Amino acid sequence: MATPFLDIRDLRVDFPTDDGVVHAVNGMDLTLERGDTIGIVGESGSGKTVTSQTLMGLLKETSARVTGQILFEGTDLVPLTENEMRPYRGRKIGMIFQDPLSAMHPFYTVGTQIAEAYRVHNRVSAKAARAQAIDMLARVGIPDPVSRYDSYPHEFSGGMRQRAMIAMALICEPELLIADEPTTALDVTVQAQILDLISSLQQETGSAVVYVTHDLGVVAEVCQRVIVMYGGQCVEQADMEDAFLRTAHPYTKGLLASMPSMADEAGRLTPIPGFPPSLLDLPQGCLFADRCPVAHLVPGNRCRTERPALHGAGSHRSRCHLSESLGTSEPITLEAAR
Ligand code: SF4
Repeated sequence: MATPFLDIRDLRVDFPTDDGVVHAVNGMDLTLERGDTIGIVGESGSGKTVTSQTLMGLLKETSARVTGQILFEGTDLVPLTENEMRPYRGRKIGMIFQDPLSAMHPFYTVGTQIAEAYRVHNRVSAKAARAQAIDMLARVGIPDPVSRYDSYPHEFSGGMRQRAMIAMALICEPELLIADEPTTALDVTVQAQILDLISSLQQETGSAVVYVTHDLGVVAEVCQRVIVMYGGQCVEQADMEDAFLRTAHPYTKGLLASMPSMADEAGRLTPIPGFPPSLLDLPQGCLFADRCPVAHLVPGNRCRTERPALHGAGSHRSRCHLSESLGTSEPITLEAAR
């Protein structure tokens, strides 16, 4: 059998703190092939950002305890040291951060930072790196890239900064691009432009893209597949059509119902009541049990006593006792979800 491009197996990330151990990611599995576009969706604290940071090797020199495997083209990235990780970060795996202003150094010009990102992985002269950076600024749609090369991050608008961040992430043409909330800080029209830009650059380079977002609308727009995370676990994974038309997990249903486009005629959203579980003290049973509107349908109090496994076969899986045979849920139409 061919080795998957990316194969994450039983990934767990714990952070020791003064108050106890925070279990941020609790057994994440994911496979990805070249050119795939997937979305990892969840609320704050669901583990989606920690998963992407672990994938990028950003927790190497922290107190985080990482176990499991991240097989990238067959090499496990988990045991690699910071030094061993460097050839991967930026060169093979690129990342677009939510806030380019904090991801870019305020004292260096935008162009210098993009050129430097290129020189870290390519033995070229400063002049050649500058030319490459100017070309990349043009490719991401920065007007007058020659003079904009010398601008500082604070001199760019929010949308321009995000384009510059994309230029920095893609200048080495990584095989895997992680886009962590790439459009959250932008207004709606710029959001659409940035998503289009990432898609067209992805088609040029053939890279796989993982969108990490709380916004199912973004995922519906650009992804082939979605992973829904809750309490550091994947609770549902599905192709987009299954996720919207044959939603299996009550939490995914709740997320769909809380989307602005699903508001009722009076414009009211349906929020998910309650709060996510404390990652310091995870319950014994289903992590969603305290908020689940259908827990009473599972006999024998299993939702409180037994952690559900990921059920289902093929590409559609759901971590719910009610999904022991998938397809029992009321469908939500794709049109209604938008
Ligand atoms: Fe709800 Fe029970 Fe399913 Fe958990 S296992 S999502 S509590 S029905």
